[in-house]
Amino acid sequence: MSTNGKKVDFDVIGIGAGFAGLALIHYLRNAGLSVRIFDRASDVGGTWAWNRYPGAATDSESYYYCLTFSKELLQKWSWTKRYPGRQETQEYMRFVANECDMWPHIQLNTEIVDAEYQVDDGIWRITTGSGESFTCKYFVSGMGMISEPMIPNLKGMDQFKGPLFHSSRWPKEGLDYAGKRVGIIGAGATTVQMVPELAKTAASVTVFQRTPNYILPAMQKQMTPEWEKEIKENYDAIVAKCRNHVFGMAFDSPVGRNAVDTPPEERQRIFEENWTGSFRWVFETFDDLLANPEANRMASEFIIAKMKERVKDPKLADLLTPTFDDYPLFAKRPPLDHGYLEAFNKDHVHLVDIKDAEPLVEVTETGVRTTLNHYEFDIIVLATGFNAYTGALEAFPIRGVTGQTLSEKWRKSSDCIMGVCVSGFPNMFVVTGPQAPFANLPTSIEQNVIWITHCIEKMEREGYDIFKPRREAEEAWTAHTAEIHAQTLMAEGHKVNSWMMGANRQDKPPRVLIYFGGANNYYDTLDKSAAEGFPELEFEKLGA
Ligand code: NAP
Repeated sequence: MSTNGKKVDFDVIGIGAGFAGLALIHYLRNAGLSVRIFDRASDVGGTWAWNRYPGAATDSESYYYCLTFSKELLQKWSWTKRYPGRQETQEYMRFVANECDMWPHIQLNTEIVDAEYQVDDGIWRITTGSGESFTCKYFVSGMGMISEPMIPNLKGMDQFKGPLFHSSRWPKEGLDYAGKRVGIIGAGATTVQMVPELAKTAASVTVFQRTPNYILPAMQKQMTPEWEKEIKENYDAIVAKCRNHVFGMAFDSPVGRNAVDTPPEERQRIFEENWTGSFRWVFETFDDLLANPEANRMASEFIIAKMKERVKDPKLADLLTPTFDDYPLFAKRPPLDHGYLEAFNKDHVHLVDIKDAEPLVEVTETGVRTTLNHYEFDIIVLATGFNAYTGALEAFPIRGVTGQTLSEKWRKSSDCIMGVCVSGFPNMFVVTGPQAPFANLPTSIEQNVIWITHCIEKMEREGYDIFKPRREAEEAWTAHTAEIHAQTLMAEGHKVNSWMMGANRQDKPPRVLIYFGGANNYYDTLDKSAAEGFPELEFEKLGA
């Protein structure tokens, strides 16, 4: 393609060969565009290429945690479980890449270290770690909303003689932890998945916990031929359910009833009957759990009681559970567990309360020192979370019109238009960026990529060189997102370092990062925008 007389290497360059990269290849290639997707990983998979820790699995149910552009692929692929492990999900992505002949568009083992908009030519220049550079008309981030690790600044971290790494950087070559003493700093969703698996063979597993979580049971189960048949006969309806659900999941909600209007016995019965695993429980019981504090208290107390039943030692049970007065359900993203709580009933699995009883002091050559004890380890895992939503976009310079980076722009507030475009950054798209919903990611990713494709098609059809995201559209979306956020209990997240508000970061103040107005409404908004010709963007022809 020639823009302003300049040849570009590709119409579109994207970063990230996970679901976003695969969806970009499919939709943009069908639109007749040349696409190159870069990824620093050595395989496709995105988050599932990196999070290799034992026990890593999806929290969405398998049969709708996938791309839906091909009915044939949905029929051809068979999931083995309700929640696939990370290998299975990665294999699924390889299957998509193979079946759709996507590999020629994917360049692995290539880190992008710089992306700069070229004002005079209206194109982007992308530079790799080895110094190569490529140009494109459209630059797309598919780097993921939870991909940039949050490494804590713990005294003495470089002293430790054994392996010490972030959970999302579990050694690729594998790590033999059988018979070893493993220390884990952090007690979020990652730790909740990791502990039961590590506990099977490690000599000991010790979790350093600051804030306990509301933990929902996953209730894993194997796929059966009957279940698979039922799914495959109903895929159109399942895909439609996801598209029309507030969290992009194939759940049967809203249910048309509120916890606060339901008599206590009936409420308890509904809570109990739906205690069948997954986030379904939050959505398929009552419609008011995430917005009404009283309803949320009822749900929180139910979960706490269920959690405590599973831990034998009452003191330990107290430590492992939050209280509603600490924070409401969903102010932090609740983990799903596969035996985390039961693991603490074993003699070799330990919990250290680093909030009140014995705060962390330092990492030493041989372990971790708290104010009261020294714990010896062979391996230390930092399961300390991620710089969510914006982290990957801030990790290297992405410069727009004025030379300002995204990181600089987002110092105080992560303004964005529908999570896909940023003012001051023409011809750039973000897949599920800040102020997009937190939802079943493949659903959101596909909806974003469809919008992006329609936008590029309009540009090409009408002969435009540049689109400029309008600042007033960005202000309007930011204000709308903040207004909705304030009405939910997720707004309490800043009190408990929730990554959902960027409150786990030391370098930037907490902010509204997520659109909580319903993924379904958000997808409607994207469709409306495309149907109306993208009023959030200003289209230009160079030299016109
Ligand atoms: P996380 O939920 O942010 O948990 C990080 C943990 O590290 C928290 O317990 C935090 O304590 C602790 N921590 C952070 N800095 C610390 C410090 N300096 N000293 C001591 N403790 C510290 O991170 P995550 O467990 O990796 O999960 C992040 C998100 O990734 C999840 O919520 C989920 O959305 C996604 N995820 C998904 C799956 C899945 O779908 N299968 C699996 C894993 C993760 P505080 O809470 O006190 O700050």
